[in-house]
Amino acid sequence: MKTKLLYAKDITATLQINEAADILKNGGLVAVPTETVYGLAASALNEKAVANIFKAKGRPNDNPLIVHIADFSELDNIVAEVSDLAKECMDAFWPGPFTAVLPKKDIIPNAVSGGLNTVAVRMPANAVTAEIIKKSGLPLAAPSANTSGAPSPSTPYHVIEDLSGKIDAIVVSGDCEVGVESTVVSFAVNPPRLLRPGGITVEQLKELIPDLVIDPAVTAEPEKGVKVASPGMKYKHYSPKANTVMVAGSEQAFADFCNKNQDIDLALCFDEDIPLLKIPYISLGKKADHSKQAELLFSALRDIDKRKSKGAVIHAPTKEGMGLAVYNRLIRAVGFKVIEL
Ligand code: AMP
Ligand code: MG
Repeated sequence: MKTKLLYAKDITATLQINEAADILKNGGLVAVPTETVYGLAASALNEKAVANIFKAKGRPNDNPLIVHIADFSELDNIVAEVSDLAKECMDAFWPGPFTAVLPKKDIIPNAVSGGLNTVAVRMPANAVTAEIIKKSGLPLAAPSANTSGAPSPSTPYHVIEDLSGKIDAIVVSGDCEVGVESTVVSFAVNPPRLLRPGGITVEQLKELIPDLVIDPAVTAEPEKGVKVASPGMKYKHYSPKANTVMVAGSEQAFADFCNKNQDIDLALCFDEDIPLLKIPYISLGKKADHSKQAELLFSALRDIDKRKSKGAVIHAPTKEGMGLAVYNRLIRAVGFKVIEL
């Protein structure tokens, strides 16, 4: 299949936006920009199109998709019930990197929800994609537009690398500002539960949901045989092909580990580590700048392989603010291999 590149810097690109909407209305697959990462969109109401998303990504069938809407009025068509608290969070965080899991209506096929009786819904902030959703007149199922298991796509080039030749079109726009995926909160349980940390922080959520429960899978490997609330959290994900390990400890301890270990040829680190390192490195910026780390994270993970590293060590971020989302992606990128020094 030849993948068409539709260049749409902003909403003045009406021809490209209309073409993307037409492809979606006809059951095709289009990668679209969002403020979190690029998404691979198809009509959430078209089972065949949804099946093609799973095929193009090589995604396990039990890993449900997030449905994207552009207008609050669309919500009632797809979810059975919205609690007052869920509505409050939507009002506060939409459009933006916040996803609510709610009881689903039958119109949402099981293929979208991975067989669950809930559906995840988000209103993305990217203006081009909001326009594409409105023009298509459809709710769009859209997981991240990467090969399943690979780092998520935070630039259009990442999408081209992974999905060229496998989908109908890619809407080429800017790089994603947030850089990690949305925060997923389930309102199908009481009290609400954080399933995946992301662009909206726990600190922001707790202002509205003081008794928010943090799912253990956010910061640790789910135990074998235990059912996870968010199927996506049980997989090794976001991974470079190189051997990787994450190390938590001081700058000196991290640098000693990197410098003394023969099998390590690359460090993924913070600016503060650089003066102590004697091996090549990729920096995610300052240790305290978690937003910057999120923005750079997936490009850096892809760069580990572009540099042909055989063994890379990643310095663990702290878990405050957006740091929790970065930490959550990194423990999966290293297959839960974390060394505390
Ligand atoms: P992605 O769109 O690739 O970023 O992945 C979507 C994430 O949302 C995965 O981690 C899913 O497990 C999670 N998710 C989507 N729908 C649901 C749902 N109905 N219940 C729980 N988690 C969900
Ligand atoms: Mg994904």
